[in-house]
Amino acid sequence: MERTHRWAAQCHRVHRDSGAWPGRALFGIVQGGTFSHLRDESTQAITAIPFDGYAVGGLAVGEDKEQLYGFTGQVAAQLPQDKPRYLMGVGSPEDLVEGVARGIDMFDCALPTRVARNGAMFTPDGRVDVTKRRFAEQHGPVDEECDCYACANYSAAYVHHLFRAKEILGLRLASTHNLRFVLRLMERIREAILEERFTSFSREFLDRYRPTDETARQEQKLRWLQERGT
Ligand SMILES: [Zn+2]
Repeated sequence: MERTHRWAAQCHRVHRDSGAWPGRALFGIVQGGTFSHLRDESTQAITAIPFDGYAVGGLAVGEDKEQLYGFTGQVAAQLPQDKPRYLMGVGSPEDLVEGVARGIDMFDCALPTRVARNGAMFTPDGRVDVTKRRFAEQHGPVDEECDCYACANYSAAYVHHLFRAKEILGLRLASTHNLRFVLRLMERIREAILEERFTSFSREFLDRYRPTDETARQEQKLRWLQERGT
């Protein structure tokens, strides 16, 4: 961790003095693993350097949700109010809402497209597996409330068929949908914050959205790893 802090200070110095990339922001990354006192120490060391924004790193690497939310909240509470905060490698729709509730502004994650390639699609009621038999006769879109290209033009039955037939278009449509789902979720979160109703928005979203249970998460991860040949 100390080496990381020295490296951060050096990066900041080089970036500041180079003048090569005007307007390009440099973020400091808070580390500390799942150790509360190290998180505090790292937050203090990194925020002592005047970065353009601050990231919470070293989470979303396999720890449970309680730890993810707990450490995110602990670090975010100590970050400067006037700089953007970025939670790295997160996440699922419920994680985005939980992250914003703890003061996070930005996220990045491969999950929406990674699970889409296995037929998992986000809906306001939770994640569904479009390869399941029950979608074979569903002639409406996978998500009735979605305005994405896939939902506007294709039925759930057709996407189901594409996955069964191993047509690559299925993977693309599911990816398009999941990306639109998370982007629209963030749009709705921004609207709710501006209208000062984020607390009720998040409660309604989380009450309705059924998170993937741990067993299903592990199974999907295993399937993904097997497909990668690792
Ligand atoms: Zn859609």
